Amino acid sequence: MKLRRLRKQPGWYEIISQCPVCGHKGWCAIDHDQTTVHCMRQPSDDYFDSTMGRQYRHYLDPHAVPKTKVEIVLSNAIEKKPNYHLNRVYRALTHELTLSSFHSDHLRNSRHLTDEMIYVREYRTMPGPERYKIAKKVLNRLSDQNDLLGVPGFYVEDGRYGPYWTMAGASGLMFPFRSITNEITGWQIRVDSPPLELDLEGSVKGEILQEIEPDLTGKRRAKCLFEVSGKEMEVFLTEKDKKVCHSKSGQFVYSIELKQGQRYWWWSSGSKDNGASIGGPIPYHLALPYPCLPYWKVGETPESLIDCSEVWVTEGPIKADKGADALLKPFFGLPGVGSYPLILEPLKQLGCKHVVLAFDADSVTIPEVERTLELCAEFFALNTDMKLSLALWDIALGKGIDDLADNGYIPQVSVMVE
Ligand SMILES: [Zn+2]
Repeated sequence: MKLRRLRKQPGWYEIISQCPVCGHKGWCAIDHDQTTVHCMRQPSDDYFDSTMGRQYRHYLDPHAVPKTKVEIVLSNAIEKKPNYHLNRVYRALTHELTLSSFHSDHLRNSRHLTDEMIYVREYRTMPGPERYKIAKKVLNRLSDQNDLLGVPGFYVEDGRYGPYWTMAGASGLMFPFRSITNEITGWQIRVDSPPLELDLEGSVKGEILQEIEPDLTGKRRAKCLFEVSGKEMEVFLTEKDKKVCHSKSGQFVYSIELKQGQRYWWWSSGSKDNGASIGGPIPYHLALPYPCLPYWKVGETPESLIDCSEVWVTEGPIKADKGADALLKPFFGLPGVGSYPLILEPLKQLGCKHVVLAFDADSVTIPEVERTLELCAEFFALNTDMKLSLALWDIALGKGIDDLADNGYIPQVSVMVE
């Protein structure tokens, strides 16, 4: 397990590798004994709210925990700067990054956005090589060399001619996260090529040796090395093709599956020299219908541009952007369905009276998400006098609110808390 020491929580570590509770990378934390996890994604009845968002306590069985080798990453991360500073730097960055034709094609063809929507929303491309050139141009737009300190995504690399500023993260499509006063406070990257990962259960060890050409249907493949009861074997695996091995008596022995890793990542540089972590607090995203955006001044809340008495909430930046355009409502995009406490204060500041949750249509059938909805209803009933509703639709009409809108439908709204 790869861990990073949390400076503000002695004895606690951020889990850089897979969280044993939710299976995602980054943001969740584990204690020194590896017995308690503060998971940010998988709800439990035992939780507390922090600047990171809601943290759910999960106790691991100390005997069942595989005592994997713990690697602690030393971090020289700088504390994240306040939003007005992040906005200044990220706005400068929008002038220096472009949107590749590959990504604008994706937004047009797969997301059904118009050129004008794409333009005003300021999506960008994180390029592959020579990022230091962009970091340098961003610096030139700012007042001094220290302005990139404490800005997640930027960090210092040691070069042959001394240290220089550059940018972290995999290459991909970047989505800006906007505060209620239109400050850009962070970015998520939809990475072009998520790393392949092995999902192993039972008595088997293994690793990916090398990705090879995809199969005829475009599924990714890799050459892998496995060790089963002391015997090594090389196997070619295809993505999502799970292999399960049973003994002669029918008992489960092991299973192996090649999977595509996480697609969306925060743009963050907390593990790098002079970098900064995106957390504390993690950003949320407020989306307005795109025609409002050119009139939305930085530093101003949007009530004069749009009625904010009813605000919708979904997961992720692109769903919020598309939901706002389809329903002509302000839309919050949460970093995860469990992170609704993040938007309590912003909702109050907007003068919201009615919150409508529009999570994916399969959310009511997944037990954990169902539990999250219950907790969310409790939270709003306890902390606000806002009405809370749930947007519902038949999953056959689309999974997310964005798919539903693409197919020309609007959801039904049913009240959860009066
Ligand atoms: Zn977790």
